[in-house]
Amino acid sequence: MTELRFDDRVAIITGAGHGLGRSHALTLAERGAKVVVNDLGGTLDGTGSSAGPAAEVAELITKNGGEAVVSTHDVATPEGAAAIVQTAIDAFGKVDIVVNNAGILRDKSFGKMSVEEFDQVLAVHVRGSFLVTRAAFPHLKEQGYGRIVNTSSPAGLFGNFGQANYSTAKMGLVGLTKTLGIEGARAGIRANAIAPIAWTRMTESLLPAEFEERFTPGRVSALVAYLAHESCETSGEVFSVGAGRIARVFVAEGPGWRQEDHTVEDIRDNWQAIMAEQPYLTPTTLGEQAGASLRAML
Ligand code: NAD
Repeated sequence: MTELRFDDRVAIITGAGHGLGRSHALTLAERGAKVVVNDLGGTLDGTGSSAGPAAEVAELITKNGGEAVVSTHDVATPEGAAAIVQTAIDAFGKVDIVVNNAGILRDKSFGKMSVEEFDQVLAVHVRGSFLVTRAAFPHLKEQGYGRIVNTSSPAGLFGNFGQANYSTAKMGLVGLTKTLGIEGARAGIRANAIAPIAWTRMTESLLPAEFEERFTPGRVSALVAYLAHESCETSGEVFSVGAGRIARVFVAEGPGWRQEDHTVEDIRDNWQAIMAEQPYLTPTTLGEQAGASLRAML
């Protein structure tokens, strides 16, 4: 069996000072990638900053015989995002892989959530992923190759109490991933998202203690490495991953109910058919979805 290697590949991993990002960085570096270890080094809610976490991970990679450089820039500003990509270009001459992983939490029940708490969480997850990808995109397009891995969450895909900001951001990343998959296709750029569960500082107070041993970050990083590898041609998809299990998560549309001139009461009376799940469709573009509605009229 041939080992999947990343020799001569350059990877940017945001939020790589702790938890999942740290594990992704170590995994890719171990397989030969040159890594930009980006981390602002703040607290879980995004306040403060420190060069320590990114430096520690880069040092560990170097000590293990790999190649890494540190970036302590903020993903959520255009200048920070541009500087992260420039760090890769300056140190290694190119960028091939972007893993958008940096994230923060500001959990509050919906009625208590402030505008700032909403904006800050979207800024790091959505704006940050957009900005870093945007800065890398011209390089990826020019070389006709790129792999992007975004970090969604089951909280976004399925909803979670107290996380209106976070779940909005994480579902937003699904839309970004799907459109990047479409727009990057012709330039050899593939974009996918993961929805992980792992024991990190973000989840240690939420998950039962017995999860620590089984929900290790390393059990997420192997999928990230596969999605970041040239042999993986899949694009625009989302994967649940944790504790050794990996599953495709797809956005599906039910078969639907159709009656051209319907009343409000017709909708009430046909609610069961509208809610039906089988046989579902999984459109991969807006065009495919619109086509399904048109076909239903024929
Ligand atoms: P973590 O707190 O250990 O790691 C997040 C890292 O992002 C931190 O090192 C932090 O310093 C960095 N960061 C935060 N804001 C930044 C910014 N503006 N610029 C650069 N770096 C910044 O948490 P984690 O669990 O490893 O989370 C990694 C990603 O996985 C996040 O996007 C998170 O939302 C997502 N996620 C985690 C889980 C889980 O179970 N741990 C579940 C679903 C999604």
